Amino acid sequence: MSAHTSNTGATEGTLFMVAAPSGAGKSTLVNALLEREPSISLSISHTTRPPRPGEQYGRHYYFVERTEFEREVVEGIFLEHAEVHGNFYGTSRKTVQDLLQQGRDVLLEIDWQGAAQIRKAKPDCVSVFILPPSRTELERRLRGRGSDSEEVIERRLRNSRGEIAHAHEFDYIVVNDRFEDALDTLQAIVRAVRQRSSLQCQRHETLIRELLANT
Ligand code: GDP
Ligand code: ADP
Ligand code: 5GP
Repeated sequence: MSAHTSNTGATEGTLFMVAAPSGAGKSTLVNALLEREPSISLSISHTTRPPRPGEQYGRHYYFVERTEFEREVVEGIFLEHAEVHGNFYGTSRKTVQDLLQQGRDVLLEIDWQGAAQIRKAKPDCVSVFILPPSRTELERRLRGRGSDSEEVIERRLRNSRGEIAHAHEFDYIVVNDRFEDALDTLQAIVRAVRQRSSLQCQRHETLIRELLANT
């Protein structure tokens, strides 16, 4: 990974991506990670999926009509977009780029298709795939969440193989069996990435120069 300096002089933030088959626990893990690491900004996606009970516009997603989404695609506002489980999802280019330029780390919760697009545009991104401990447990979690109709649950279960088949494309794979263990592992990945020498040499340029100086 190469570290970039933004035009504000700050080291550019790191772009993290997390993907998983629906019900693996991705959103629950990401929300808990953000509580532990509040300096990471979560990118709020645009979607044509109808809101679930309790989901709020601008907090969980920007819920938009299909015609509006299609117009936004033409306008080029998305860094990536994809059709997932019969709905469209997209990541705002400007929001992500502005945050990265300010030196903030940004996390995207996206599917494998979006992750592949981001890797091409930003090869220095870091991607994590979350696996459930078993198929039975994935189904139990999807049903237990109680947020989707039977038809939607079955569609998501059918699609889970297609998502999992791309797990090897990700930099890291975390099995979400015991929640606290998976959360610790996810946090360890974030912390290790932040210590990469390519970033540290920029952040601690003065320190390293001073330590190397002949006095
Ligand atoms: P859940 O995350 O499975 O509970 O369900 P969602 O309906 O919130 O998300 C459905 C799928 O769309 C998941 O695979 C997400 O990772 C993916 N997704 C969400 N936002 C985006 C986005 O902005 N871009 C892309 N490409 N995928 C997204
Ligand atoms: P995703 O975002 O991957 O679709 P969610 O974060 O909505 O998944 O999690 C699906 C359900 O599984 C939620 O009800 C959540 O509370 C539960 N869950 C998440 N992780 C675990 C775990 N390690 N053990 C048991 N239940 C979990
Ligand atoms: P859900 O509808 O359950 O919130 O999300 C379903 C899937 O869509 C999840 O796998 C989620 O990661 C993915 N998703 C959510 N937002 C985006 C996005 O902006 N881009 C892409 N490509 N996928 C997304």
